[in-house]
Amino acid sequence: MTKTRIWLSSPHMGETEQHYVQEAFDTNWVAPLGPNVTQFETALEQYVDADVHVAALSSGTGAIHLALQILGVTTNDDVICQSLTFSASANPIKYLGANPVFVDSESETWNISPQLLEMAIKDGIAKGKKPKAIVAVHLYVMPYKVDEVLEISNKYDIPVVEDAAEALGSTYHNRKCGQFGDIGIFSFNGNKIITTSGGGALVAKDHETKQKAIFLATQARDNAPHYQHSAIGYNYRMSNILAGIGRGQMEVLDERVAARRANFEFYKQRLGNHESVTFLQEPKGYYSNRWLTCMLTDSFETREKIRLALAEDDIESRPLWKPMHMQPIFKTCSQFVDGTSKNLFDKGLCLPSGSNLLEEDLERTVSIITKTLDQC
Ligand SMILES: *Cc1c(COP(=O)(O)O)cnc(C)c1O
Repeated sequence: MTKTRIWLSSPHMGETEQHYVQEAFDTNWVAPLGPNVTQFETALEQYVDADVHVAALSSGTGAIHLALQILGVTTNDDVICQSLTFSASANPIKYLGANPVFVDSESETWNISPQLLEMAIKDGIAKGKKPKAIVAVHLYVMPYKVDEVLEISNKYDIPVVEDAAEALGSTYHNRKCGQFGDIGIFSFNGNKIITTSGGGALVAKDHETKQKAIFLATQARDNAPHYQHSAIGYNYRMSNILAGIGRGQMEVLDERVAARRANFEFYKQRLGNHESVTFLQEPKGYYSNRWLTCMLTDSFETREKIRLALAEDDIESRPLWKPMHMQPIFKTCSQFVDGTSKNLFDKGLCLPSGSNLLEEDLERTVSIITKTLDQC
């Protein structure tokens, strides 16, 4: 019997996505923009359930780029960025000609350390250059220390871009992620908890900021019958076809969160008692969508043995994100690090976590991990 490949996180369509895409074809709303975009934005605004204004865009990366620009980041500015993240959190800082300053994580949520964040800000101020913005990430969907980060942001008057690319459906003290930054962003890339095959969104606090994002995302056209421009624009808007997929995905989002959380519980129950394995717990008041289940092993060697044994059986797993301050392209950037993110990178492994995994897929994965651990 040939075994099927088990993926880390693959798209999982519901019942109505094709209907909304078909509707776009039937009404010839194939050109960008149209009713699906507006409806998808409304669905997101209602889901986040706060007074937010959402602009659907072509990617989460584009959303971060626009967020930083709208917050006034420009050439030679310093921008603080969580080091343990995907490169898309940091790249837009460079698009704007600004300099990333990388800050390490704390071990309770694996996200930006409030102590090191404040240290980085004080250092900047002492050198006469106050950082212009903070990019904080709900990595692996555990919310960052929202209150502590907000307090620092207020104290020094530095705005926060909340990278909630992975965290749609996670909550902090019963409030949905995406509403905590001066500007928030989501991603609907193919591997995320819901997908539009590719897409993102910017979450603004007011209508004017949303309109500014849409203006910049649609080539910055001035109000004139001809094409007139008094600013540099981008082509970052979401298409009406893809927004149709998003509308359908919003209808199953809560089911997807439930399925991913069940995966996490399965892994924790079956592997959590092993002395060389730990899982990130939800601190009080935190609720994670468990987009990916990440397992922390006792050493780099154990992590690699498990990863290779899984690969041998055609099961996809992946080390945690390699911290940005360790990336060849960013290694000369300023950094405030204490080894926490490097340790997580060395010992952590993301396990197959799709909402479409079968019980037998999870069983197969766990049996290989158990076998490997028993040999360690
Ligand atoms: C996926 C992701 C992004 C980028 O989103 P795209 O839609 O792929 O551009 C940014 N930040 C984090 C933390 C992500 O996981």
